[in-house]
Formats: sequence, structure tokens, C-alpha cells
Amino acid sequence: MSEKVGFIGLGAIGRPMAGHIAKAFETQVWNRTTKRAESFAKEHGADVAASPADLVSWADVVITCLPTSADVDDVVRVPDVVWRAGQLLIDATSGDPAEARALAGWLTERGVGFVDAPVSGGTVGAEAGKLTVMLGGEPDHVERATRIIEPYSGKIRHVGPVGAGDALKAINNALLAVNIVAAGEGLAALVKLGVTGETALEVINAASGYSNVSINLIPERVLTRAWPRTFRLALLDKDLGVAVKMLQDTGVPHDAIGVAKEAFGKARAALGEEADHVELIKEIEKAAGVEIK
Ligand code: NDP
Repeated sequence: MSEKVGFIGLGAIGRPMAGHIAKAFETQVWNRTTKRAESFAKEHGADVAASPADLVSWADVVITCLPTSADVDDVVRVPDVVWRAGQLLIDATSGDPAEARALAGWLTERGVGFVDAPVSGGTVGAEAGKLTVMLGGEPDHVERATRIIEPYSGKIRHVGPVGAGDALKAINNALLAVNIVAAGEGLAALVKLGVTGETALEVINAASGYSNVSINLIPERVLTRAWPRTFRLALLDKDLGVAVKMLQDTGVPHDAIGVAKEAFGKARAALGEEADHVELIKEIEKAAGVEIK
């Protein structure tokens, strides 16, 4: 018999992920702002749960996709949400490994499985059902989670015990952040020296300094001056915080990632909670007195 899936958190990436789930499974959704859940239900035919408690009592498997691990705790680790043995929580949030382990321990006491399952690939990857998903958890829970998340995934990899998915995701995003800062600074200098952004990227992308930032993000968002909002800068700053804490806890230097954390913290204070992650480059342009184009 097919599993009943509850999906919590219909934000920029959660909504398209839930869309794929609703096509494959009997689905209920819950979102803090109810009108977003209602608009999702209208588009996809899923049911809207009245509360997280109702959703958890109905579902076999619950997927959460919220900003932070603390938000996940606030929604599903509260007295009125009653879990039952045999259920599984798949947390697609880009979370904190230590907090994931704590939540998994709490769920284990109730006979509930937990898999941390953060995603990468952006809203475009989510729409296309081609996300890369990194899973942390026990093999039997991971196997069950894999069957559920398959509709929104391109690549699914079991990377280690509970928390390992969140750890890998934090480092992936730290690399993204370092690349945004470095490419923004480097290109601003080149433009001031008379090399256009387009020319610089044509060469870099055929040389050795390229990354997703130089191949996709800057051409599509900065050179065009389109600055779409798909992944909040505040969330990438949160990921950098997780990464720096992991590096501190493991006794690893964090010179490059620490600098990126500082840059994103400053940009978050200047640009606010709704700015997109690539908009950090606006701050570099402002300080340099130049536009990258
Ligand atoms: P958004 O900010 O777009 O959406 C956040 C969602 O969480 C909304 O549904 C919001 O509800 C809900 N929410 C926020 N705080 C609470 C709370 N305290 N209690 C209940 N619900 C809450 O985030 P994204 O969808 O972009 O990101 C979700 C997760 O996925 C994050 O961990 C992010 O780092 C990660 N991620 C995002 C990617 C992207 O491209 N956007 C890419 C890969 C990972 P409401 O509608 O009421 O505001």
C-alpha cells in the first residue's frame, strides 16, 4: 500500500518539491501562512491539514522543508504533535547536524525514524524534479526515504549517519558562498581595469577558475541585472554559520569560509532578510564603485 505523505513548508523550494510529491502520493500539506497552502492545494489537488498536529496524525511519512533546524523543532517537536511508532520524518531543511542528531534521538524514543535530507539544485532543479539530495540516517530509514523523495530528485546519495547530510550540505553551500565573494571581488577589479564582465567570464569559464557562480549565476543574474530572488541570502548566511561551527568543533581552520561568513553577515544586515544570495555582489559593486557588466 502506498504511503501517505505530509509536507510541511511550502516556501521557494518546498513548494515545487511538494508538487512532485503530490503527483506520486496521497498528500497533505501544511504551511504557516495558510493562503500559500490553499493556493498549492488548488494547483495540485492535495489536502490542506489544519495544523502540524493533524498532518502528523494522518501521515505515514512527513517531509519538512523550513529555514532552520530550530524551526523544524518548533513545528514538529512540540507537545500537541503526537508521533506514533513506525512513522518517518524526512527533514529536507538545510539544517544543523547536531540539532538533527538531537531531533533523531527524540524521535527514536517514540519509535519514529529520521533522515536528514537537504537538497541542492535551486528552485529550477526543484521544478524539474532533478535535485541532488544528501541523506543522513540508518540504512532502513534511508531506503524508505529514497522511495518517497525520488519524484523530486536527480541524484540521491546516502552519505553517512544522521547529521551527515546536513554537514555535507553546509560545506557545499560554504563553497558556493566563497565563490560568490571571490568572483564578485575579482570581476569588480577586472571591470575597473577595462575587461568587461562578459569577456572575463568567457575566459575564466574556459580556463581554471570557473564554478557554478561563474558559469550560471553571474551570467544569468548579474550581467543581465535581473537579480531574481530564488534563495534568500539570509539562508546562505545561516548555512555559513553551520559550516563555521562544524569547522570550529572539528578543529579545522576556517580562513576562507570564515571570511565568507563575515561578508554574508554584513550583506544580510545591509540588504535584509528577503534579498537573494547573489545580491551580495551588489554590496561589492557599491564598495568598489563599479557595475559588473
Ligand atoms: P523560504 O524562506 O522561501 O520559505 C520558508 C518556508 O518555511 C515558508 O513556507 C515559511 O512559511 C516556513 N516557515 C518559516 N519559518 C517558520 C516557522 N518558524 N514555523 C513554520 N513555518 C515556517 O525558504 P526556502 O523554501 O528557500 O528554503 C527552505 C529550506 O531549503 C532552507 O533550509 C534552505 O536553506 C533550503 N534550500 C533552499 C534552496 C533555494 O534555492 N531556495 C536551495 C536548497 C536548499 P510562510 O509561508 O508562512 O513564510
